[in-house]
Amino acid sequence: MALLEVNDLTVKFYTQEGVVTAVDDLSYRIERGEKFGVVGESGAGKSVTALSLMRLIESPGRIESGEILFKGEDLLEMSEEEIRDVRGNEIAMIFQDAQTALNPVYTVGEQIAEAVRHHLDYDDEEARERTIQLLDTVGIPEAESRYSDYPHEFSGGMQQRAVIAMALSCDPDLLLCDEPTTALDVTIEAQILEELESLADEFDTAIQLITHDLGVVAEVCDRVMVMYAGSPVEKAPVEELYYDPKHPYTVGLMSSIPRVGDRRERLQTIPGTMPDLVELPPGCSFHPRCPYAEDVCTKREPPLLNPETGRDASGTDAERAAACLEYTGELQEGLDYEVEIREGHDTRADATAPNPEGDRR
Ligand code: SF4
Repeated sequence: MALLEVNDLTVKFYTQEGVVTAVDDLSYRIERGEKFGVVGESGAGKSVTALSLMRLIESPGRIESGEILFKGEDLLEMSEEEIRDVRGNEIAMIFQDAQTALNPVYTVGEQIAEAVRHHLDYDDEEARERTIQLLDTVGIPEAESRYSDYPHEFSGGMQQRAVIAMALSCDPDLLLCDEPTTALDVTIEAQILEELESLADEFDTAIQLITHDLGVVAEVCDRVMVMYAGSPVEKAPVEELYYDPKHPYTVGLMSSIPRVGDRRERLQTIPGTMPDLVELPPGCSFHPRCPYAEDVCTKREPPLLNPETGRDASGTDAERAAACLEYTGELQEGLDYEVEIREGHDTRADATAPNPEGDRR
């Protein structure tokens, strides 16, 4: 049994502008100890998916349908009390902005110790010891003396380490990380990702890592799901995604992976922006931005298929899936791009981006 199995999840927001389908019929699974990446631009539905797992979708949002099986039990069927127990004890979440997760009026140590006391039923002394140990584990030097520091006395990187320590304090089975390193500089980002990965291995914790950056996914994850406008457009083991991406949106994301030390605006090679989720373009919702779009793409919504066999791949068991009419055989011209893996950048790949003007290579 998978640790987490999400089946046909649909989440809508009833706004004044209209109904926003933030997540549309989404299915995926995460095994115990696995590191699973969810990638896409903002508005793709990544964070809404994570908040749904914690049952933290608030009005005007609503989980419309689907099931979220965690260790075989549907989180959507649980009482408030049961879900509170799962939240924090078995599923923990780390947000992008560590500052908002830490209370400025308590010391960092007190806050983590409080979480330890709450989740593990330790007394004060045991909680303090466990906290110091955790701070040390996440790489905070002189953990004992830093226990009494207030959050503002920590750098951004140290704050994020403290938040990771707090999330790990209850030894969760699943850690949801929402852009955990976006606010940090690249060197610290690399250190924290490494730390996160080895801690997950040590604690046998599965990770759902949400990011807009495929470079980050390459460093940490085993499998990846790429999302666009609330739906998955590609799923693959991480290496396959890098060496052989099957969806034009993934290719666009890959060609915008920044190099170390390169702070260029990301995603610059995908023209245009995410569509208005109230009124998605007809057919393939990526068609206004896709350099390979043909007439049929404006009329037919591509199903998630195995790109090799053309068979249905919408279920949680599908290892490899892509949603493009190329795999239904309906594209006349086909997809024509090359992926060039640059030496010295390990898994950071360069896609030879298709020319948006239609001048294909
Ligand atoms: S279906 Fe058409 S528009 Fe959508 S990704 Fe494939 S080629 Fe592009």
